[in-house]
Amino acid sequence: MNTKIDLKNLNIEKANKHLKDGDFTVRELVDAYLEVIKEKNTDLNAYLEIFDKDINSQVEIAEKMFEDGTATKMTGIPIAVKDNILIEGHIASASSKMLGNHTAVYDAFVIEKLKKEGSIFLGRTNMDEFAMGSSTETSAYGVTRNPYDRTRVPGGSSGGSAVAVAADMALVSLGTETCGSVRQPSSFCGLVGMKPTYGAISRSGIIAMGSSLDQVGPMGKSVSDVEILYNTISGKDPLDSTSLTDEFKSKFDKAPLKKKIGVPRDFLSGGGINEEVLKNFEESCEKLKKAGYEIVDVTSKTMQYSLAVYYIIMPAEVSSNLARYDGIRYGFNIDAPNLYDVYAQSKGKGFGKEVRRRLLLGTYILSHGYYDAYYNKALKVRDMIAKELLDIFSDVDAIISPTVPFTAFPLGDKMDDPMAMYMCDIFSAPANLAGIPAMSVPAGMSKEGLPMGLQITAPYLREDILFTIGKDFEKLV
Ligand code: GLN
Repeated sequence: MNTKIDLKNLNIEKANKHLKDGDFTVRELVDAYLEVIKEKNTDLNAYLEIFDKDINSQVEIAEKMFEDGTATKMTGIPIAVKDNILIEGHIASASSKMLGNHTAVYDAFVIEKLKKEGSIFLGRTNMDEFAMGSSTETSAYGVTRNPYDRTRVPGGSSGGSAVAVAADMALVSLGTETCGSVRQPSSFCGLVGMKPTYGAISRSGIIAMGSSLDQVGPMGKSVSDVEILYNTISGKDPLDSTSLTDEFKSKFDKAPLKKKIGVPRDFLSGGGINEEVLKNFEESCEKLKKAGYEIVDVTSKTMQYSLAVYYIIMPAEVSSNLARYDGIRYGFNIDAPNLYDVYAQSKGKGFGKEVRRRLLLGTYILSHGYYDAYYNKALKVRDMIAKELLDIFSDVDAIISPTVPFTAFPLGDKMDDPMAMYMCDIFSAPANLAGIPAMSVPAGMSKEGLPMGLQITAPYLREDILFTIGKDFEKLV
């Protein structure tokens, strides 16, 4: 172990200063992380693969940038990358057997951005298969363990990316969200994790789940690390027509904060929050009051429908996005005597149970006769949720809630009960459906020594509000 580097207390700003001052080199920093990975990963299974074949060349590029003065804050910063984000020349499997040998032929937009900065990709991290799940247990490559209690889940679907940072196996990481997959594991592993405004970051090179909901999300130990990473990877990309231009973004006024935060009491009361998490949330409200924020109750009539709406829209989009994995064009293939059997067997054996469940559900929802009854109705309610949130935000800067109604649960606990698993997403869903930014910030520990998170949700394109309140709150915990 490189005793010079205190990985636990390291952040991007500090690492950058040390690298600039020559206190340690990029090589030494990367080696310090690789050392911890060697020690812990077999047990925790955060990484599916360490990029041995090109870490050296990545380090060389970064060191050269420090030598010739072109280094930026992100140069030489070791990052863990979720297995559904394409890095040219590396496997990207979305933790599915279907894509077990799938080598990416181009870089995702976010990877391209980080490569320009000379950041270091240490490896790809475990996740729920195709990002469907809340515990990283639906992966085809084994479960990931929570470093706070190895018998418990790390959350999901970006569980590997969360554990990599929480166990000092990377300084920061990239996850993706369709509904809570960055915020929920961040909450379970004591990290900061953000889902940006839909369109703030390009989805090009992200293995699609639900395209109207998917976003990349940065994860780190502090709000400042998440902010730096977010600023690096956001931006307009011609390859994603839903990504937003700076000109468009500048139209959203950055009005000063009213220092007023809303608590949607009626929505929370239906969320099945466990007692300790509720108590922790009330304490968080008190802390924010002491920091000068006014905390008020806000009323919502529609947020309670978010989870149901998500579990209609998402499978519909999943069934369409995953149609491309037919066993013929690419991916896992079983050769059979006729076309129907090739499809049925390749999909049947290439996809795990949860993915198959959603494909069936999604196909049903979109079928003739049910399209209007389910899909179109869900779209209408989605619209109502977004409109109501807009209305709520005319009075408050942000909305707060616990990130998840409970703490990390034991491995295996919810695998046979999909509905119980889906409850993990109850407080995440409104932000994904409305396309607005939300962030989980560590809020303290339970009696059992498990992290709890505070979720802050802000209006469209007001990530700055999340960073401001998040930084204020961080100081109080
Ligand atoms: N828990 C969510 C689900 O199972 C996670 C989706 C996501 O954010 N990738 O759908």
